[in-house]
Amino acid sequence: MKVSRYNFHVPSPKEAGVHFLYNSLHDNRIVLQDGDVTVDTLFSKIKEHRPLNPKESLVAKDLKEMGYIVDEDVDEKRVFRQWLNQRVTNQNEILTVTILTTLACNLRCTYCYEKEKLGKSRMSPEILQQCVDWIKTRIRTMNPRKVNIIFFGGEPLINMEAIRNFSKEVYPFCLENKVEYSAGMATNGIFLTPKISDELKDYGFDWIKITFDGDRCEHDKKRIYKGGRGTFDKIFSNLEDISGKLKILLGGNFDKENVESFHSLVERISKSKFKNDIIATNFKPIMPEMVEAKGELKGIASSCVHCTFQDFEIRKMMELRETTRKFDLHPTDPINTGPCEYYRRNAVTIGIDGKLYKCIAFLGINGTEIGDTAHQEFNETGEAMLNATAEHEHPMCEDCSFNPICAGGCRADAYNTTGDFKEISCQRHYFNKTLTEELPKEYYDAAEWAEQMGGV
Ligand code: SF4
Ligand code: SF4
Repeated sequence: MKVSRYNFHVPSPKEAGVHFLYNSLHDNRIVLQDGDVTVDTLFSKIKEHRPLNPKESLVAKDLKEMGYIVDEDVDEKRVFRQWLNQRVTNQNEILTVTILTTLACNLRCTYCYEKEKLGKSRMSPEILQQCVDWIKTRIRTMNPRKVNIIFFGGEPLINMEAIRNFSKEVYPFCLENKVEYSAGMATNGIFLTPKISDELKDYGFDWIKITFDGDRCEHDKKRIYKGGRGTFDKIFSNLEDISGKLKILLGGNFDKENVESFHSLVERISKSKFKNDIIATNFKPIMPEMVEAKGELKGIASSCVHCTFQDFEIRKMMELRETTRKFDLHPTDPINTGPCEYYRRNAVTIGIDGKLYKCIAFLGINGTEIGDTAHQEFNETGEAMLNATAEHEHPMCEDCSFNPICAGGCRADAYNTTGDFKEISCQRHYFNKTLTEELPKEYYDAAEWAEQMGGV
């Protein structure tokens, strides 16, 4: 027997003898309390191959079932590589396609990475049809259990016609082929009405991603109309008007100026009509424009978790997660964050010109296209991007226990800073800090909440 190389052991900051264990390969988390068996002694004995007493053997048996202890001859690195290859890179159960049908936007958020590219560009009907055909062919050959479609922009609702035409073909096609279908969009919420929401539901939409950049006063400095007017009231009242119709992924971008106002935003939302529509909340820092970028990216404005954060940002994210937990707005899991869609063969982003990319952060960057909607096969770049992770491990990651939840981190960030997507964007600092603080926090917050509920 040996201790898993993917274990993390966090002693409780509040109670002596209480231990939080996490295993990154199985995403298991448990709490153990010293008693007849002492956790430190048990693990030391296993590491040193000393005999266990009967009580320790029983605990070890349970820990083995959960992956914290493994048989001596198990090559865990190999198990991880196989998992990454089969269950992430080459998994064919879920097809995820992000589509940009327009680059146009009705807002001019002060930090928007797309502001230089904004125009009236829309996907042409011909490319849209190619996009539909590409997805249908992919479904026929891949036979997935589920298809996820994500509309992104610009503001997707500016090109509602494209959404209609796309959905009228792809949604029924999935139903006919007994493939589960889910569609959603990242929208600024300005054009959301009950009528549009009903229409979206008819087209198989079940969620929208909405972003606030702090409470009213701060939000209205950043998320503005072309003329400079704030958008908070409009977005908020639209969400109240459509409450109960679509699930909401709540996002928010913070910096040193607006971060404190997120607490009152959360409180305000917790009293709103759409509170129960929120299924996940993720507030993250506004990423600075990367002007020094070697890969010529102008900034990563992805809706994903991008983890090359500063200490201030990590601390604030933790605080905001605590607030969202307190108001029951379902903060996203900060620990098991990946591997992201970059690492999946069956997750692509389609630009308005029909070119395919690994994720939206690469969009429009010459030389990072992985193919186009006229062809099912990826080009050499696409294969090289996937092989860089599926078959070759970066030397730094090889012995890292975070590998199953990171796999090298954000490759768009790596490409941005080094010009090479085989490089990694190391998130060790973020993971270390988050894991040590969040594991106990999650547990004690839940215990406090249960106590409050019991006392009602
Ligand atoms: S490569 Fe980076 S930006 Fe792209 S999906 Fe992964 S974490 Fe997000
Ligand atoms: S990028 Fe850093 S944190 Fe991620 S697996 Fe590699 S060494 Fe570990």
